[in-house]
Amino acid sequence: MTIAPVPPLGEILVEEDRLRERVVALGREISVDYAESELLLVGVLKGAMLFLSDLMREITSPCEVDFMAVASYGSATDSSGVVRILKDLDVPIEGRDVLIVEDIVDSGLTLQYLLRNLGARGPRTLEVCALLTKPERRKADVAIRYTGFEIRDCFVIGYGLDHRERWRNLPYVAELAAE
Ligand code: 5GP
Repeated sequence: MTIAPVPPLGEILVEEDRLRERVVALGREISVDYAESELLLVGVLKGAMLFLSDLMREITSPCEVDFMAVASYGSATDSSGVVRILKDLDVPIEGRDVLIVEDIVDSGLTLQYLLRNLGARGPRTLEVCALLTKPERRKADVAIRYTGFEIRDCFVIGYGLDHRERWRNLPYVAELAAE
């Protein structure tokens, strides 16, 4: 019999049922705010994929979805703010109501880049919905209209978030234990 490897899990910061409740509440709020428009959700790959797919199912107003993939230069734990677009949007966003859906805002530098880049394309409105935010780590002053949870300064995995591409499939958000 082989013994399954123990994941490098630290404290569970957001349990599955809290995630579900918050995503339902965010979906309701967004549905009311965008009731009169055709919202374009922009998911930032890969981390936001689980959050986006759950959130989208809770939005009752008309919406479309598109994706961007970005890579931030820097160390494993610190982004530099110099961002490279790996996959751009498929559609123009001029005149559209756009909501960026992010997994986590840490320094805010990646989001600052995305806001500037997408803002230059002339959307009618451009807002942000982030599942997690670490306010203590912020370097760039970015406005987040919808926030799931504020967490302390630690590296988290699960619910789409990875460590070296693993652990995205965990149904909750946990701290990565020191290796
Ligand atoms: P920022 O530019 O805000 O410093 O970094 C944003 C990106 O860094 C996020 O979209 C995410 O990909 C990654 N990131 C920041 N903090 C964490 C974390 O605690 N866990 C994981 N898995 N990724 C993180």
